[in-house]
Amino acid sequence: MVRYINVRSRTRTEFIDITEKVQEVINEEEIKSGICFLYVPHTTAGITINEGADPSVQRDIQVTLNKLIPFEGDYLHREGNSAAHIKSSIVGASRSVIIDDGRLVLGTWQTIYFCEFDGPRHRRVVLKFISDRL
Ligand code: ZN
Repeated sequence: MVRYINVRSRTRTEFIDITEKVQEVINEEEIKSGICFLYVPHTTAGITINEGADPSVQRDIQVTLNKLIPFEGDYLHREGNSAAHIKSSIVGASRSVIIDDGRLVLGTWQTIYFCEFDGPRHRRVVLKFISDRL
């Protein structure tokens, strides 16, 4: 069983909180205990888990990534979005989160972010569950 979450980014770089959408799928699937594997099937996007309470944190991550990997640089890729490809590889395309008692096991301040690096676009996140109570 594979599930998808649709994401619509609205700017060139953007972190989108998908935590509640992931939890909704867990609720629908009635998974009480196991692992949620989250995968982004895109070459210019990523997924990360970081602080969601203060929106400055995800802003600071984006600003720093943009500084480290500028949009314009000594890139050969003809599509012109090499910075987005590089950010995608650095951030990574997947994360795993433990599910316990029907809930994602996240720290108080943790949020699951879909990371857009070449928006705006329609995107999706693939979810695969490994349940240990069948
Ligand atoms: Zn490209």
